[in-house]
Amino acid sequence: TVASEAYSLDAARGALRDVFGFDDFRGIQANVVGRVLAGRSTLAVMPTGAGKSLTYQLPATMIEGTTVVVSPLIALMHDQLRSARANGIAAATLTSADADWRETLDAFRAGALDLLYVAPERASQPAFRELLSSARIALFAIDEAHCVSEWGHDFRPDYRLLRPLMDAFPRVPRLALTATADAHTRDDILVQLGIPAEGLMVAGFDRPNIRYRIAHRDSIVHQLVGLMRSEPGPGIVYAPTRAKVEKLAGQLAAASGRPVLPYHAGLEPGERAANQAGFVASEDMVIVATIAFGMGIDKPDVRFVAHAGIPKSIEAFYQETGRAGRDGDPAQTLMLWGAGDFAQARQRLSEVPEDRRGSERARLDALAGLVETAGCRRAVLLRHFGEDPPEACGNCDNCLEAPGVTDATEIARKLLSAAYRTGQSFGLGHLQKVLTGVGDDRIVQRGHDRLSVFGIVDAEEARLIQPVARALQARGSLVATEHGGLQLGGDAKAILTGERSVEIVVPPQSSRRRGGESNP
Ligand code: ADP
Ligand code: ZN
Repeated sequence: TVASEAYSLDAARGALRDVFGFDDFRGIQANVVGRVLAGRSTLAVMPTGAGKSLTYQLPATMIEGTTVVVSPLIALMHDQLRSARANGIAAATLTSADADWRETLDAFRAGALDLLYVAPERASQPAFRELLSSARIALFAIDEAHCVSEWGHDFRPDYRLLRPLMDAFPRVPRLALTATADAHTRDDILVQLGIPAEGLMVAGFDRPNIRYRIAHRDSIVHQLVGLMRSEPGPGIVYAPTRAKVEKLAGQLAAASGRPVLPYHAGLEPGERAANQAGFVASEDMVIVATIAFGMGIDKPDVRFVAHAGIPKSIEAFYQETGRAGRDGDPAQTLMLWGAGDFAQARQRLSEVPEDRRGSERARLDALAGLVETAGCRRAVLLRHFGEDPPEACGNCDNCLEAPGVTDATEIARKLLSAAYRTGQSFGLGHLQKVLTGVGDDRIVQRGHDRLSVFGIVDAEEARLIQPVARALQARGSLVATEHGGLQLGGDAKAILTGERSVEIVVPPQSSRRRGGESNP
């Protein structure tokens, strides 16, 4: 077992210099390493780029025995393996993709490994438990620990098998690591992995050099090219599907004249690897990618990250935008959203198993809150991660140029009643005609020109129908059916009865553009 006196933080600083060549710890690294060296189980919540791997790799080189690292993805393990070996650390992986099992097992049993990376599935196998009993274990490190929680955004049932495995080695300390965990998920991780509540260490989540901007997607190529012009350094554009990745990469290359490459799981492996390597080496390349891109990529000088559609959650947004500006220099992010994004995401909720639907819906509501806020984006983000940030950061769109806020309750009620009175099966175009009093054939045939809501919106209000519809869809008060009709949902009733009000953000005049919705 580990005696606390045996490893001082001074000795750790020495190893930090000798093994990694770094002058000092960053942020909470020292506290985390200190706890690990004292043999105390810990959950370290540290944002992407904060240097999580060092907090177990460094103790692994100091404590006698092998540190067993559980990691969810083979690609991630192999990246870690490469970087550990580059620092002269004795490391190995046991995955289905490895051919050198024999050697690894021999080295492990001989006590010659500092680090052994395994996938969580292996933890359930009796043979693995036996293997661990055959040598000395220094530490259990559980990477991406949010995978153990159903509250996390990436639940992996195999992570639940780690607790019984680790319980079989009660003297070995545990270090769980994650970049993405709200308060609820954190508590759950502690319980699921058997870490005492006092073992929770949370790093500050703020990334002050990152500028956050979120805008309605009205002309995607134009908007992204604008960003690429203002930011000549390397950038990532996340798009929701392979087809959109391909299309957008072509459009951006043509419109910007900059090197732009696609990246998604459907590319031929050689091309995918070449595009990734090209990006990592480049000082001006833009990569258009699905969210598969970025995990385990260590490129500190990414100057912007853009989203061509909404990310899955605030956690995902934070993680993906967190790939910008790891070097600490100014970096930009831009999320371009359409009401359809939220409508689709809400539709997909019906496919989520019932016991998890509530937490999925809460995740979507939180994201809608970030998108719709007229206040500081950073404050919303940091509050989501349990921090108590200042009201304004000075480095997000809303702080830099305050958007106008309009009380749109009246027009929201008119729109909701139009949807209701037309039978909740018509799209926005039709409802707009009803509200503004356009009596064309389709309207007259259905008798919608005789409804009380026909023509009740004046020209001034008509301007707000679209933004109100977006806001209502984002918050779930209007829900698009699969046939494109709009139904009432969420708090629609409360809005209709006047119990709830609806405020919408009016984008600053300077950035308002003409033109219809164009999807990527
Ligand atoms: P995370 O896993 O938290 O996203 P990494 O472990 O990949 O972060 O570390 C991010 C980068 O920071 C890596 O390039 C790593 O070498 C570097 N790094 C980590 N700790 C330190 C430190 N104490 N001093 C300087 N650089 C560090
Ligand atoms: Zn701000």
